[in-house]
This record gives sequence, structure tokens and C-alpha cells, in this order.
Amino acid sequence: MRAQYSLIFAVMAVACGICAVMAASSRKPIRKAVTFLLAMLIPPVLGNLIIISSVDRMTATVGYYVYFLGMDAVIFALLYFTMQYCGITWKNKLLQIGVYLLLIADVVQYALNPFFGQAFSTEEILVDDEIYFKLVAYNGQAFHRMLDYGIFLFILMVFFIKTMHSPKIYSERFSVIFISMSAVGLWETFYIASGTPVDRSMIGFGAFGILAFYFSLHYRPMRLLDSMLANLAADMQESLFFFDVTGQCIWANDSGIKLADIKDENFAMAAAYLEETFGAIDLHGSEWSRKKEIKDGEDQTRYFVLEKHAVIDDHQRTVGCFISAEDYTKQELELQRERYNATHDQLTGLYNREYLYEQTKKLMDTHPDTEYLIIYSDISEFKMINEVYGMAFGDRVLCSIADRIGKGLSQHGVAGRLVGDTFGVCMPAVEFDTGYMEQILSDFEVEDGENTHSILIHIGVYRAVETGIDVSVMFDRARIAFSTVKEEYQVHIAWYNDEMRKKALFSQQISAELTRALREGQILPYFQAIVDGTGKIVGAEALVRWIHPEKGLLSPSLFLPVLEKNGMIAQVDLHMWRCACETLAKWKTEGRGQFISVNISPRDFYFMDVVDEIKNLVEEYRVEPKKLRIEITESVMMSDAARRIDVLEQFRQAGFIVEMDDFGSGYSSFNMLKDMPIDVLKIDMMFLQNAKDDERTSIILQHIIKMSQELGITALTEGVELEEQYRMLADMGCKLFQGYHFAKPMPLEDFEKL
Ligand code: C2E
Ligand code: CA
Ligand code: CA
Repeated sequence: MRAQYSLIFAVMAVACGICAVMAASSRKPIRKAVTFLLAMLIPPVLGNLIIISSVDRMTATVGYYVYFLGMDAVIFALLYFTMQYCGITWKNKLLQIGVYLLLIADVVQYALNPFFGQAFSTEEILVDDEIYFKLVAYNGQAFHRMLDYGIFLFILMVFFIKTMHSPKIYSERFSVIFISMSAVGLWETFYIASGTPVDRSMIGFGAFGILAFYFSLHYRPMRLLDSMLANLAADMQESLFFFDVTGQCIWANDSGIKLADIKDENFAMAAAYLEETFGAIDLHGSEWSRKKEIKDGEDQTRYFVLEKHAVIDDHQRTVGCFISAEDYTKQELELQRERYNATHDQLTGLYNREYLYEQTKKLMDTHPDTEYLIIYSDISEFKMINEVYGMAFGDRVLCSIADRIGKGLSQHGVAGRLVGDTFGVCMPAVEFDTGYMEQILSDFEVEDGENTHSILIHIGVYRAVETGIDVSVMFDRARIAFSTVKEEYQVHIAWYNDEMRKKALFSQQISAELTRALREGQILPYFQAIVDGTGKIVGAEALVRWIHPEKGLLSPSLFLPVLEKNGMIAQVDLHMWRCACETLAKWKTEGRGQFISVNISPRDFYFMDVVDEIKNLVEEYRVEPKKLRIEITESVMMSDAARRIDVLEQFRQAGFIVEMDDFGSGYSSFNMLKDMPIDVLKIDMMFLQNAKDDERTSIILQHIIKMSQELGITALTEGVELEEQYRMLADMGCKLFQGYHFAKPMPLEDFEKL
């Protein structure tokens, strides 16, 4: 017996030691409590080893001390472990201190035992002819037992409560400890009651320590994991179908049950459903994944992605598989919507510009032998339509045009809204019928619910014959063509030609270079003499010239129309007025008495307060206002006559002399003359060019001059080229003359020499 138990205890002590070392190196927070418990188990086990192997009383007594004191330490360690394992803390500090004091008291009373013998002594007995030292317990020992039992029962109770109150999947880790502890406790009780010299229950204690070590550090609750995974699978959005090796469906999650309409857990029918809906499903081969659209009702489509995953066990054997079916309809529709929004115009549903360009390119690339037309369309005065009839009507106009384009286009063409009120189309040239198109454009009407409104639309067409040019450039060429007809009422279609491009390029260049040209003095006035009936030069008209560094001398007819269009003419005119004032100031100091006439464009009024600007200039240069004559064309009076008359009045009140330029060239209205506060009437040279051989024109001319005389307006004729013209006009009563007959427009120095 001695040898057997010695061996068992020794092994137990070593096992506890090894587990303690292993526990110490664990990462879990509970490792300290476990290590401590295992380490504390070693002394009582060793104590029992000493007791059983000792042959003299002294050694046996030492063994008992090691055993009992070790048990106190075990109880302490067990208490600590329990608190950690169950996640509880001392709520009552007094109770904690009380328990610790009792344990210390127990240690103290053992220390006093050699002197008072109140705890225990040993008794020599013979078992199988061998000497053992049996424990004889006194009061002190009873105290020790009561204390240890009390704490032990308390701990048991804690584990019991934990076992009962924890969720099923967690109670396992508590119940195992509770049961094993109860067993050890009973074993211990049996030892005490039986009075055997060897405490065999120490084996149980050791075993318990190792169990605690396993459960707290290495136990992974499989059932917990299982149930977690099962819950996860059950709640998943994706439909899951699990198949065994034979290809029988054994389980499907809620979503799968709904999808396949599985009744009464009859999972076996899932395979048939999947085959029928998604096509053949291969359950045995390798993993696969595929997308599938299924029709759901009238025009509803649902989008699925189907995936097969093999289930493999630890030995790399396939034990089954599962199929997941994910309904990504929402994402797909969202994606389609985003794609649509990114490529289509919200209002009209046509392609947007980028996408039109892309599709045009694609069309041309896929049909290299087809000749295509690129069409640019624009609505006249769309801004005005919006302002007068409202944005809603404006939108309606855009939609009707988009509609019309859609109707007129075969599937071989593409159309889009470029920006604002402009549309673009690419279509095969053979499908374009110019006559038909003109007809559509000439009576395009849109209703606003009550009335029908005519909408003026122009288009520019570019024949895409040149290869290798960008789609955006093609549309730009169509736009250039458009811009040549945009003001016409009779013609609505313009075909692009190269001349247009050169012109457009020139316009662009002019506009881009203007500011620099003004700064560098490339733009300056030429002066054309104005003479009286005696041939004396009484003044000059300042006419703008651009001395271009590359193009040479540019006449205003080349660049002014461009600048009129984009409004930059105002900068030129302001510059011209300033030059005129500068010259007048210079002449004043030189004692020259001539005046200078400057031109004012109708566009100037949009960009500045013309009267104010000119008044400021004469003040700045201290020139007499009457020396600066103001030339205004009839067209200025065409729009908003009342306000323009006011402007002329302001000029005259400030002392300027106002001249009506180009009279007779345009839509001259004698009626207008009666209200116009002007001093000089500049009769257009166009009259003269015909007056020679046309008796009637000459009569009209004569009457204009006569009428002006009667109105107190000075008549000036421009474009006098011949001496006889001069004579004739003078005879008619004309007072002032201008024309190549006297002098051409020339630079200031030349003029001054004249
Ligand atoms: P305009 O005001 O009627 O100027 C007279 C034009 O007739 C000038 O052409 C002048 O060179 C030309 N001319 C003068 N005498 C004769 C002649 O005997 N025979 C012929 N065939 N032509 C003659 P220019 O300088 O080319 O100016 C053209 C137009 O440009 C001007 O017509 C005027 O409307 C405009 N313009 C010129 N300078 C300015 C300016 O500084 N500001 C504004 N707003 N317009 C200007
Ligand atoms: Ca003029
Ligand atoms: Ca003129």
C-alpha cells in the first residue's frame, strides 16, 4: 500500500506541477487563479506522500502539518479561483476579512499545537505488519475541518447556483466543476469518517485541479459554437441549402425555406426547386458560382447569385455541400438606376452628353462603312421662353423636342441632350431627309394646355467624313454650322463646311487676343477728314484699326462683328473714345479747332453707362464736349426708343453734338427723325453710289437734305469719292462731306500733316 500510494501521490504532485507551469503560460485572464490553485495543491499531496511513506512519528507529524496547512492554502486558492471563474467579487468586505482571519487563525492554532497539543497527535498503528501514523483529532482539528468544510460548502453552493442560473449552453462549464467538487468533498468526508491513515481523497483534489485547469483554459464549448452557427445560418439573408454526400437536402435556413416554399421541413424537395428555377445544379463537382435572373411576375426581374461550397471534414473528405442563393435584386436595381442616371438626362430621358459621345463613337466604330451625320440643334430665345411662359413650359418644350427626335430616329442612330436647350444626334446620312427636316423645323409647335406656341429651332449638320477626329469636335463642327443660321427665320438647317471652321477659328482667335492687343497698343484710331463746302477740314471721324503683329492691318469689318457678338466691342469703343479725347486735348494745346466724331455701338449700352463714361472722359482730358461728336446708328433706336431718346438728350444737354450715322442704309424711318434729338444726319454713301445713274435716288437724296435743313439738322454725306458728287451735294445744300475724294482714314500723324 505504501509504495502504491507513494507513487500515486508523487505522480499527482508532478501532474499538478506540470499543469501549473502550463497554466502560467496561458494568455487567459483566469490563468493566475488556475496556476495558484494547482501550485497550492502540491503541498497537501506531498504532505500525504510524507505521511504514508514515513516510518517514524516525527516525519509523519511533519507530513500532517504540511497536509493541513496546505489544505488551508488550497481552500484559499479555491476561493480565489471560484470568484474568478464565476466572475464574482466580494461585495461584503467584512465577510472577506472575516474568512481570511479565520484561515490565519487556523494556521496560528497549528503553530501552537506542538506546545498545547490542542489540534492533533498521532497514533502508531499496524496495517499488514507495517507501521503507519494515524491521526488523532482534537478541538483544533475540528475547528480546521469546520472552517474548510464551511468554505468548501460555500464554494459548492456558488457553483450550484451558477449551474442552475446560467443559459443551458454555459451551465456545462459550471456543472462539471460542481459535480467533480461534490465527489471530492464526499470522498474527503469518507476519509475523515473511516479514520484511515491515508487521505485518498487527495487524489480527487489533484484530479479536480487538473479538471479546473482544463475547463478554464482549454475548454471550447462546442455546443455553444454549434448553436451560434446554427442561429447565424438561420437568420442569414442568404438562402442556404445543405446537402449530404448523396445529394439529399438535409436542411435549409428560414430564407431558403421561404424561397423554395418548403413545407413541413420536407427539405428533400429543395433540389428539384433549385434545378427548376436556376438550372442544373452540380452538387458533386468542384465549387462554382453563377448569376441568374429570374422572372417574377409581369415585368419584375429578380437577380440571384448562386454559389456551391463543399463541406470538408478534418481528413479532407467531402461530407456534403451547401448552396447559397443571394437575392441581390435591390443592389442590382440600385446599380442600374445609378448607371441610368449617370448616362441619361433626367428631364428628357435622352442620353446625356458624355454618354452620347461614347455611343456615337461606338456606333461609328462598329459601322465603319456607314456615313453618319452629326446634328446639333438649339432653340431660339429659349431663355425668353422660360422667362415669359415659365420653367414648366420650358421643360415641356425640351421634352417635346426629345420626343420628336426619338420618333424620327431609327435604331441606327443615337440622340442626347447636350446641355440646356441643345440636343445632339448621330444618324446614318441616308436616313436624313433635308426637305422633311426643314418642314418639321419650320412648324414646330408646343402646346401649353391652352395655346400653341411656335418654337424656332435651328440645326447644324456635320457630315462625318473625316476620320480620326474626336466626337466632341464633330459636334462642335455641327454647332459651328448651326451658329451661321441661328438668327434666320426662313432657313433652319446649315451644313458645315471648312470655311465655317476657319471663320470660327478666326473669331476665337480675335476674342482671345483682344485684351492683349488693347494693352499693347495694337488697336488705334485712324482719322478720316470731314470737310465743309469750301473744302476746309473741319473735323475727323475716328475709325478703329487693329495693327495685328502677324495679320497686318485689320479693318473693322473683320473683327468688329465678332466683338459685337460677344460684347467685347465695349472695350474697343471705350479705348477709342479715350484716344479721341487724348487727341482733342493735344489739339487744344496746339490751337487746332477740329472736332472728332466717335462711333457708338448699340451693344455698348448693355455693358456701361455710355453717357457717364464719355462725360467722365471729356472732364478728365479737359476737352470741350462739342469737340467730341457722338455717332449713333439708327439701329440703336430700334429697341427701346424712349430710353435711347433720353440718352441722346443727355448727350446734348451735356454739350455734345449728336450725329445719326448711316442714315438710309437700314430701316430708316423718317417718322423716327421727327422725335430724334440729333444735330447731324450722316447720309449713307450707299445712296451716292446709285445716285449717279438713278434719277429717283438723287431726288430722294435732295429731299432728305432739304428736310434736314428744315428740321435744323446739319446734313453730312459719307462716301464722297468724286468731285462731281461733291459739287452736286453742295448744290443740294449739304454742309459737310466725308469720303475718299478728300482723304482716306489715316494714322494721326498723317492726318495732322494734312
Ligand atoms: P462708318 O461709321 O459708316 O464709317 C465709315 C466707313 O466708310 C469707314 O469704313 C470708312 O473707311 C469708309 N469710307 C469712308 N469714305 C469712303 C469712300 O469714299 N468710299 C468707300 N467705299 N468707303 C468709305 P471702316 O473704317 O472700315 O469702318 C466700317 C464701319 O465700322 C464703320 O462704318 C463703323 O460702323 C464701324 N466702326 C469703325 N470704327 C468703329 C469704332 O471705333 N467703334 C464702333 N462701334 N464702330 C466702328
Ligand atoms: Ca461712323
Ligand atoms: Ca457711316
